[in-house]
Amino acid sequence: MTVDPGAHAAGPVRLRTALGSLPAYTPGRPATLRDGLVAYKISSNENPFPPLPSVLDVVRDAAAGLNRYPDMAVTALTEALAARLGVPAARISTGPGSVGVLDQLVRATCDDGDEVVFAWRSFEAYPILTTLAGAVPVMVPLAPGARHDLDAMADAVTERTRLVLVCTPNNPTGTSVGAAELDAFLDRVPPHVLVVIDEAYLEFVDAPDAPDALAVHAARPNVVVLRTFSKAYGLAGLRVGYAVAHEPVAEALRKAALPFGVGSLAQVAAVASLDAFDELDVRVKEIVAERERVVAALREQGWDIPDQQANFVWFDLGEDTAAFAQACDAEGLTVRPYLTDGVRATIAEPEANDRLVEVAGRFLASR
Ligand SMILES: *Cc1c(COP(=O)(O)O)cnc(C)c1O
Repeated sequence: MTVDPGAHAAGPVRLRTALGSLPAYTPGRPATLRDGLVAYKISSNENPFPPLPSVLDVVRDAAAGLNRYPDMAVTALTEALAARLGVPAARISTGPGSVGVLDQLVRATCDDGDEVVFAWRSFEAYPILTTLAGAVPVMVPLAPGARHDLDAMADAVTERTRLVLVCTPNNPTGTSVGAAELDAFLDRVPPHVLVVIDEAYLEFVDAPDAPDALAVHAARPNVVVLRTFSKAYGLAGLRVGYAVAHEPVAEALRKAALPFGVGSLAQVAAVASLDAFDELDVRVKEIVAERERVVAALREQGWDIPDQQANFVWFDLGEDTAAFAQACDAEGLTVRPYLTDGVRATIAEPEANDRLVEVAGRFLASR
């Protein structure tokens, strides 16, 4: 008898009903190859610079110990972060990317049917992790200018709310919240509701009114700061991020963490990258300068681009979203389209940025 391994793929196995309402995660596609044109994948907000030689060296050395489990307590990285941020090590919880830490946050706070409030559009992982945990996403539309509507988010908090996610700068719209509006918002959130400030793009922020999230955290027991080594630090491939939370919360996050979630290479690379931050910051400043150059050129063409604070640019395109993404793809640029909302394009090598400006100019002229 032969068995067709595909025959029972949709068989009687019972899966969780929550999965039925989940979109499959859409990863950034590799750029389309075209003759004579260097293709650029500017759809995943990756750092265009290769890893620092000093970081590669420690990763190579650590690779000799891959037969061993990583340090489950992530001791060296936790202590390095504590020293750098000026917070007790007990307030830090690490995870496999800040998405991994976000998963800890949802699972540490939400029982079935509890609510997680966040802006929409915002980071794709928010509704997915919330739904997977059995919690209910409460998505609050962005205000005009593609900014968080913090008043509406405070209004959306109910008896069932356990978690509020504030993404600043917001992925994919690039706008950041102001310190004063964040404070006014936090005054309205009950103290038993945890508020996460997702600062994945913190290092690229230069808005004078941006909040000091660590200071906000220090003053408010229900505020958590979420950060990653994937963007400014250029370690997206290694998967490491962290939260700064008050002790009872940080301890809960460590309990909710996948054991050995942060690999040994990720741990040494993150420590080495903290040590090399001045060198990395030169690159961050170059990316910010490129962002400003691109945004100025696009506005000059007539695009209405909101204030951009991360390492990408948001095009508010509505029904033209797919057509713009196609126009970019035809020129070897893979961007990230969002249904009928708009397109996010990562600031990358100057040549890629130049080409983006060109394509956008032609698109606008023919619109
Ligand atoms: C990229 C990103 C993260 C970080 O993801 P990692 O899991 O750390 O790679 C977190 N939040 C937002 C909003 C992001 O855009």
